[in-house]
Amino acid sequence: MNDYCESAITREYVTRTPKSRGYYDRFCLCLPGGETRSVTQYDPYPVVVAEGHGPLLRDLDGNEYLDVLNNYTALVHGHGFGPITEAVQAILSAGTVFPAPHLALLDLAEALIERYPPFERVRFTNSGTEANLLALRIARAATGRERIVMFEGGYHGSVPEFIDRSICTLRVPYNDIDRACAAIDNSVAAVFAEPFLGSGGVIPGDRDFLHAVADQARAVGSLFVLDEVQSLRNAFHGMNSQLGLMPDLLVMGKVIGGGFPVGAVGGTKSLMNLTTAKTGGRLSHSGTFNGNVVTTSAGVACLRALDESAITRLNTSAALLAAEIEACAGRVGVPAAVTRAGSILHVHLIGGTPTCPDPPGVESKIAVAQLHLALLLEGVYAAPRGMLNLSTALDESQIAQVATAYENAFSRIQPFMSKGPPLQARGT
Ligand code: PMP
Repeated sequence: MNDYCESAITREYVTRTPKSRGYYDRFCLCLPGGETRSVTQYDPYPVVVAEGHGPLLRDLDGNEYLDVLNNYTALVHGHGFGPITEAVQAILSAGTVFPAPHLALLDLAEALIERYPPFERVRFTNSGTEANLLALRIARAATGRERIVMFEGGYHGSVPEFIDRSICTLRVPYNDIDRACAAIDNSVAAVFAEPFLGSGGVIPGDRDFLHAVADQARAVGSLFVLDEVQSLRNAFHGMNSQLGLMPDLLVMGKVIGGGFPVGAVGGTKSLMNLTTAKTGGRLSHSGTFNGNVVTTSAGVACLRALDESAITRLNTSAALLAAEIEACAGRVGVPAAVTRAGSILHVHLIGGTPTCPDPPGVESKIAVAQLHLALLLEGVYAAPRGMLNLSTALDESQIAQVATAYENAFSRIQPFMSKGPPLQARGT
């Protein structure tokens, strides 16, 4: 426990969550820090989730929350979505994973290639992180180069290649054409970019910037890798198509697995064929659970229901919610700006709209943490760092409840505004 417990918000949280509090010590006795995923930890301790149904989460103490985190954007249809559950139940009696091709794998591969042209081949992994690593290996094999360029605030997975400072990985400011183009030279194997900085605060990518980066990569013979692990849910053909981008490799994850572990890389036949057994000196790429029966069956059902009209509804509702949250903040007198990409939002406790991740010295870590706890008290489950996103399971009245919860939570956190250092939180 730490000093956050001294606040009325934290005391109320502790009072409402005794079972979670009790279990926290047991979690800590077997998991370092009580967790196995950095972003799930927050002070004084996280609620232990007992179950999720549609748009709702219930904790061990029976408290209910409208889920606007949706496992960090993966559960685009909420919990226990009928078509996914039915698809998985139907296939379970046939098996869960085979060391062989199976028809659910073919169904998902065909669905992805049809939906995300111009890709001709796709290869599956068990996470978005692994998919980025595979894209990196393909880029290195295709170019014979080692270095990569990525962007400050960008997230491609918690692995050394994308996290550690190294001479192979150069990070440049997002949305800065000159700095990016200067960094992308003929020693670079690949440029990794997100259409918007997801974990970095939902900072939209400038269209000209993304095109300039893609063009520069092409000009010097580097691959332009677009990481759509998070953004794929925002446009029917992906944000690459919406933005008119033509990435060499498209990295996918989250929604394509329907709530099960997944990642995939799509690309042209010639690039992707670097991984086939039929190519001399090929990249060997295996994974015990790659393209397993359960994930691929769930992925097909998830994507089928994520059609144009579902995406339009999600994005329209998210735009209205973003405006409403800012209006709530205005009424309460708390400086807040909401950034948005499709149905993914981030509430920043600052006066103006941020254009870079973690603008220095303006957002109070304590205020962000207290807003998160206050939202839980108001029955809303968002990301501790301020991100939220919608699922098709939320109806209009529930989205209105989310807005009201923000208004009440803003009132609760007023005493904490303008204190402490800025928040640093990455990943999912
Ligand atoms: N890329 C992006 C853009 C992501 O948002 C994430 C995770 N949120 C990843 C890669 C890593 O995916 P995973 O957590 O499935 O490894």
